[in-house]
Amino acid sequence: MKVPFVDLKAQHAALKEEVESAIMNVVADAAFVGGKYVAAFEEDFASYCGVSHAVGTSSGTSALQLALLAMGVGPGDEVITAANTFIATAEAISHTGARPVLVDMDRETYNISAAAVEEAITDKTKVLVPVHLYGQPADMDPILEIAKRRNLLVLEDAAQAQGARYKGRRCGSFGHAAAFSFYPAKNLGAYGDAGAVVTNDAGYVESIRLYMNHGRRSAHDHAVIGFNERLDGLQAAVLNAKLSALDEWNGLRREAASRYDSLLAGLDLETPKVLADAEHIYHLYVVRVKQRDDVRAALAAKDVATGIHYPVPVHLLDAYKELGYGRGSFPEAEGAADEIMSLPMFPHITEEQQQFVAACLEEIVGKKS
Ligand SMILES: *Cc1c(COP(=O)(O)O)cnc(C)c1O
Repeated sequence: MKVPFVDLKAQHAALKEEVESAIMNVVADAAFVGGKYVAAFEEDFASYCGVSHAVGTSSGTSALQLALLAMGVGPGDEVITAANTFIATAEAISHTGARPVLVDMDRETYNISAAAVEEAITDKTKVLVPVHLYGQPADMDPILEIAKRRNLLVLEDAAQAQGARYKGRRCGSFGHAAAFSFYPAKNLGAYGDAGAVVTNDAGYVESIRLYMNHGRRSAHDHAVIGFNERLDGLQAAVLNAKLSALDEWNGLRREAASRYDSLLAGLDLETPKVLADAEHIYHLYVVRVKQRDDVRAALAAKDVATGIHYPVPVHLLDAYKELGYGRGSFPEAEGAADEIMSLPMFPHITEEQQQFVAACLEEIVGKKS
């Protein structure tokens, strides 16, 4: 049996008619950039998240950067985020001219530790960027409490958490703003690059719309030096067609995760731990295992695809040497990077595929002693 890491073709097959007719409508209307399909998706996604506004963007990375610019972040500022995230979170901060200040993760949830955040705050700190990593909401209450007490803004990196809930509310509704990615493999994926900022702040919306469209106030009146980071109509139409399936597909991921939990119980590895107040939507199902690289190779030999998210924490990447951190700066993130492994996880994974993954793992790592 072959078990892929994700299966985007199965997703398309499940919604083929809706998605293809949505695409043909955009083509018929030639509504390629901006326009009614973008507006419709923005309205529907904002209401899905439980906030007043959404602004579609060209990617999750541009959503993060535009939100930071709207918050007034720039040179001389510091923005605190996780050491164990995808590089895009840090890049977005760097491209505003601000400095990314990294903090270590919580050992159990892989999410940012509020205690570490508090220690990293200086006079220059402007924004906190918790990442809802792997689809599990960060523990937002302590982070929001710190932000309020220290007079800081909060931008959620919700790129992996479309639809996840914390204390009954959707990710994206906690911070002053939140950034989503709709990269094809995300839980809500476009057919290309796309993203969105969601917020209750109308001032941010105005500023983001200005920056993302060449600083344009009207046809040839440009107020600031901006970017071309708009969402296109085809992606918006695809996203709106898929949004109706998101809760069902997140539900299937959660069922698949609980099947893995029971199939893998007793094996010599650690399965994911979920906060009591959180509804994890398993963008990734990440286990922790000794001799991870050997285990991955043995799985690959049996046609089971796995991933590592992420093998090198941000502070140890060549691109971020300039920050001056080194090995030992963030022991939890570094320890996890050597042992984490993402198992095949997608809404349409079958029970047989999961049983096969579990049987291979039992053969490779054995039972807990
Ligand atoms: C995917 C991702 C991003 C970037 O999104 P793109 O749409 O690929 O630009 C940012 N942060 C995290 C945590 C992500 O997983």
